[in-house]
Amino acid sequence: MLRIATLFPDLLGTYGDGGNGLVLAERARRRGHDVRLITMELGDELPEAEIYLLGGGEDGPQRLARDLLIEGSFVSRVHDGATVLAVCAGLQILGETFSVEGDDEFEGLGIVDVRTKRGRSRAVGEMLVDVGGRELVGFENHGGETSLGEGVAPLGRVRRGRGNDGTVDGFRKDSIWATYAHGPVLALNPWFADEILQTALGQELDPLVSVADDLYSERVAALSLR
Ligand code: GLN
Repeated sequence: MLRIATLFPDLLGTYGDGGNGLVLAERARRRGHDVRLITMELGDELPEAEIYLLGGGEDGPQRLARDLLIEGSFVSRVHDGATVLAVCAGLQILGETFSVEGDDEFEGLGIVDVRTKRGRSRAVGEMLVDVGGRELVGFENHGGETSLGEGVAPLGRVRRGRGNDGTVDGFRKDSIWATYAHGPVLALNPWFADEILQTALGQELDPLVSVADDLYSERVAALSLR
């Protein structure tokens, strides 16, 4: 049984990020896996799961989500090897500090050595990121700029958009992926969904051809042209 938990979609559900859970569940089921898709609502204990999903959110809800997550067992589950996909506010929460509202700095969960400061302007628009030779598409809407600590690898190199800082997007550490791309990002990038599933399942998945591949190719082509 593969358990996939979407954490606080009421707080971290901006731009349809909850769809990432649906995509992972459906792509795993179509390969014959037994899947349980769980939603952690406000007031719930952290569910046991192999994959945890954190979405984007406004500054206030982002701080509340951080406060709630630091109380429970989330940090230790991630240190024990749970697979995580974190988008935008979710990415910022995993880091050491974030200051997205005014100059006040807030403690993150301290899971990864990254820090987010308020950027000079808000980054809004479509993104194209080169992830080890594969393209990741999505769109971003955030005020934060993130810097990576020594030894933290970015998810990829930004070809369009800002991502962390105009040069790279997100980070990848052990079984944690983080990106500024909404979309929901796994609906837009089937290969990325499968990479996360394969890590969580510890096995290769059979190819799964669907209309999502055509839409992905069209989007990459359109963004590469402009
Ligand atoms: N509140 C954060 C920022 O503006 C994250 C925004 C988001 O998740 N879209 O940087």
